Amino acid sequence: MSAKILDGKVVRDKIAGELKDKIAGFPVAPRLAIIYVGNNPDSAVYVNRKLALAKKIGAEAFVVDFQSLRLDLGSEERSGLSEHVSQDILIAEIKKLNADKTVHGIIIQSPLPFGLDWKAAVEMIAPEKDVDGVTSANLKLLEQNNPEGIIPATARGVLSLFKYYDIAIKGKKVVVMGRSHLVGRPIATLMSNLGGTVTVCHSQTVDPDKAAREADILIVAIGQSELVGADYVKDGQVVIDVGINSVINSDGTRKIYGDVDFDSVKDIAAAISPVPGGVGPMTVVSLFQNLVSAFEKQK
Ligand code: NAD
Repeated sequence: MSAKILDGKVVRDKIAGELKDKIAGFPVAPRLAIIYVGNNPDSAVYVNRKLALAKKIGAEAFVVDFQSLRLDLGSEERSGLSEHVSQDILIAEIKKLNADKTVHGIIIQSPLPFGLDWKAAVEMIAPEKDVDGVTSANLKLLEQNNPEGIIPATARGVLSLFKYYDIAIKGKKVVVMGRSHLVGRPIATLMSNLGGTVTVCHSQTVDPDKAAREADILIVAIGQSELVGADYVKDGQVVIDVGINSVINSDGTRKIYGDVDFDSVKDIAAAISPVPGGVGPMTVVSLFQNLVSAFEKQK
């Protein structure tokens, strides 16, 4: 039997509709500042998706214009800059946005160009405006299972997918492949907070396929294009593919692949999130759920 498709676009659209209704009742629109430096083509796509969703739900999102910020500087300072924004300018802008009461959320699109420290910059974001949920302050609150924290957007997106499709976590064996600070770990922590019995696999795990087959719910966030195939999956499992791997094919076209080989597992698993169209759209809409919550708290 073919696996049920966990369609992130459907769930995104439902949540977006709810956010739109909520925002319509606010006196002003929640406002998101997107810090985007450089010209990574994948980042440009993601930034545009965020801008488009903001428009759809009546929030306001804007990309910080570093070009004009650079021109504001004296010629002496300008000559010291690389083709990109400097770390000092980045941090000065974050401080300005932190203090700006008309801005309710701030995100830094990753990756930043070489020479800029994304983590150091992120740590400057005021935790109450950190709507990606990636500052140490918010990650610590997640560790403490403290509802005051902002849940990282990807982890929240996975959870919303489970809620919509009525997939229970409590008492289930959850295997998370990947233990990065921003993706794998927060997802594992959230699943544990919600009553799952969680095993985390990483690049040094011996026989990860064996561990994966033990799971009721397998969540894959390893950044390895289609590595997880039929040998990792057992009958009746729920498989969540968080991976987004942008691959340039021999004809020069760019295509997105997940970490799971969809075709080889679709007849084994009970349910699977596709790539694209699974966790990706959920992450974007979760960002705006976090923005709306941040807006409500800041009022
Ligand atoms: P990362 O490179 O920082 O971390 C990868 C993790 O996977 C590491 O912990 C590593 O030990 C582990 N790993 C690598 N190979 C493995 C293997 N063969 N078996 C078990 N574990 C292995 O990557 P990341 O930032 O955590 O991102 C993971 C993936 O999720 C990427 O494809 C990224 O593009 C994607 N992503 C998707 C979204 C989304 O919205 N869907 C958001 C963020 C990241």
